[in-house]
Amino acid sequence: MLVTKARRTLLTLVAWLWEQPQTLLGSSLRLAFHGARYRWFKLDDGVSKTGPFVLRITGNWGAFSLGQTILMGLPPGYPGLEPMLRHEAGHSRQSRLLGPLYLVVIGLPSLLWAGWYTWRYRRGRTKTPHPYGWFYTEAWADLWAWQGPVPAEFTQSLVQTSGDSP
Ligand SMILES: [Zn+2]
Repeated sequence: MLVTKARRTLLTLVAWLWEQPQTLLGSSLRLAFHGARYRWFKLDDGVSKTGPFVLRITGNWGAFSLGQTILMGLPPGYPGLEPMLRHEAGHSRQSRLLGPLYLVVIGLPSLLWAGWYTWRYRRGRTKTPHPYGWFYTEAWADLWAWQGPVPAEFTQSLVQTSGDSP
């Protein structure tokens, strides 16, 4: 039992180091939301125990994944909440594979794609040549989306941030 625990700790440490610099950014966010720690969820399929941590905060800006940390700012009742969570967990898996290359291969292109997409949308160009999920970073995350269970508390887990109205 002790060996299993030590081995798991070591593996977690190696994974944390491998996934730099995004895990450092993600871990910093977790520290910033330290007071809301009890609201963090760990996705757990009961087998690998390597699912990412998830925090839902108020706002309506979407979601992102930094290493094994997922932050979601989507209003209550948002219909795509669970698919979005599963998709973001797909990005977490990409991070685990790509390690230090994640931000270059996935993070930055994905951010630019989302920015361009939003920019077009705000200008009324709702007819885009491709759906959002068409871009390789997104199609890949969908392919690797979380298949395990999502905790029932997830939909009620909204954390209020200061200066934000509900
Ligand atoms: Zn995505």
